[in-house]
Amino acid sequence: MNLTQLLRPTILALKPYTSARDEFSGVADVYLDANENPYPTAFNRYPDPLQQKLKSRIAEIKNVKSENIFLGNGSDEPIDLLVRACCEPGRDSIALADPTYGMYEVCATINNVTIKRVNLRTDFTLDAEAVLNQCDESTKLIFVCSPNNPTGNLQPLQEIEKLLSNFSGLVIVDEAYIDFASTPGFLPILSRYSNLVVLQTFSKAWGLAGLRLGMCFASKEIISILNKIKYPYNISSATQSLALEALQNTTKKDKEVAEIITQRLWLTNALTTLPGVSKVYPSDANFVLVAVNNARDIYEKLVAKKIIVRDRSSVVLCQGCLRITVGTPEENKKLIQTLLLVMN
Ligand SMILES: *Cc1c(COP(=O)(O)O)cnc(C)c1O
Repeated sequence: MNLTQLLRPTILALKPYTSARDEFSGVADVYLDANENPYPTAFNRYPDPLQQKLKSRIAEIKNVKSENIFLGNGSDEPIDLLVRACCEPGRDSIALADPTYGMYEVCATINNVTIKRVNLRTDFTLDAEAVLNQCDESTKLIFVCSPNNPTGNLQPLQEIEKLLSNFSGLVIVDEAYIDFASTPGFLPILSRYSNLVVLQTFSKAWGLAGLRLGMCFASKEIISILNKIKYPYNISSATQSLALEALQNTTKKDKEVAEIITQRLWLTNALTTLPGVSKVYPSDANFVLVAVNNARDIYEKLVAKKIIVRDRSSVVLCQGCLRITVGTPEENKKLIQTLLLVMN
């Protein structure tokens, strides 16, 4: 892959904004460089623009180098930045396989970037050849979500590797749900492919959706492009320190993930026994996709009982399906009891 050719000429030539904290990042006694209020509070100083402490801790946990990490305001930020870095509005395109996470399409559309789409196979697996057949010289990015939202399945390693080996743009593997999956995902082979970008997030397994912190892993060349075009202080001091705190306690996260995986099995079994359920799809994520007799009707009856699930029945290949997040044991029991009531 040739990154120079892949980037929009404007981005390649861009001279980034340099903040006060970029120019001097050491330790000093007196800071009169950033027009901050000198009277101390928890937040009177600008945050570290490159989040170095937080990145070293993530590097340790994920077994990658800090230079291979970009942090964003949710993983939605790197999705948007990658589109803006590589795709010329009105000319370029991205490729994806439906059904999948909606933000790839939204970010592309906002930027007037076309979408080359295929469907997943009917068993929800990725057909790499079909995706590659859709791509042309205008196609700069391929988005793959694994485990996929809303279907819950991991995509076959060989199919994703087929994309990585045969596509001259970036292949972005969104692993928002990888902690709930039975495989380590693509981080262990990050250095094998210069066009691989892996997205993960603190919003799901780590229980920090409200904090807005997403991780992007890639070659240091790709990471430096993202750093060049991001907002200078995209991650607040509060987010940086609260995330560092959460990262001290990986046991808590591991326990919760284990409990959610146990509950996923319980929920799958309980749903399967319900008369109104025709199929519960296997899941490597923290949700299950469930085919029911009358999805909209059941969705609305659950809402009336103050239980909210996601109606995916109008999504391609998901006719009649609800997407249900795995909750606490009490929440899951309540859901099943309520479904028993409303399905009769
Ligand atoms: C939830 C989710 C995310 C997370 O987005 P954040 O902006 O990090 O909260 C990313 N990708 C997929 C597929 C998701 O389902």
